[in-house]
Amino acid sequence: MTSQRPNDDCASCAALCCMAFAFDKSDLFAHDKTAGTACRNLRAGGDCEIHDQLVQEGYRGCVQYSCHGVGPRVVQECFAGATWQADKHLVGPMITTFAMARELHDRAQLLDAARLLPLSDIQEAERDELARRVKFPDTLSTTWLERTTKSGVSRDVDRFVKSLRETASRVRPKH
Ligand code: SF4
Repeated sequence: MTSQRPNDDCASCAALCCMAFAFDKSDLFAHDKTAGTACRNLRAGGDCEIHDQLVQEGYRGCVQYSCHGVGPRVVQECFAGATWQADKHLVGPMITTFAMARELHDRAQLLDAARLLPLSDIQEAERDELARRVKFPDTLSTTWLERTTKSGVSRDVDRFVKSLRETASRVRPKH
């Protein structure tokens, strides 16, 4: 899916989202697609054939999606710029690696959002420690992603975020 967000740098990716994700025919997508298959609108070279008419063609979901730059980092840093289109053996490993990277990136975003809450010193310290654990290294690698995922940090972040509900409820705007 070719996001409209400039920092996604789709040109450095390998159309991972146009292959890895499943989607259902709906008001967001014009056809059903299973995970791990190339979208029917994807050209052999990796470009979307209908990039300029996504909304008109019924693919609003593609416009709305952003990987926040995770896809290009996976392709360039974990796979040295290789593509699953050129090497079908990479389909599985790229799906798995992309999924791990997205999972950790999502947790990093949650922890970033937690900065806006009036955290106690203890909560702040825990937030910082978890943020340190999910922070991508300068050069991302499959090894780092596997090790970090296996450490259970996503579970730890989810538990921490859940524990902030009471704190968050105190800053909710009153209607
Ligand atoms: S319609 Fe285009 S942007 Fe959307 S998944 Fe298919 S190839 Fe990717």
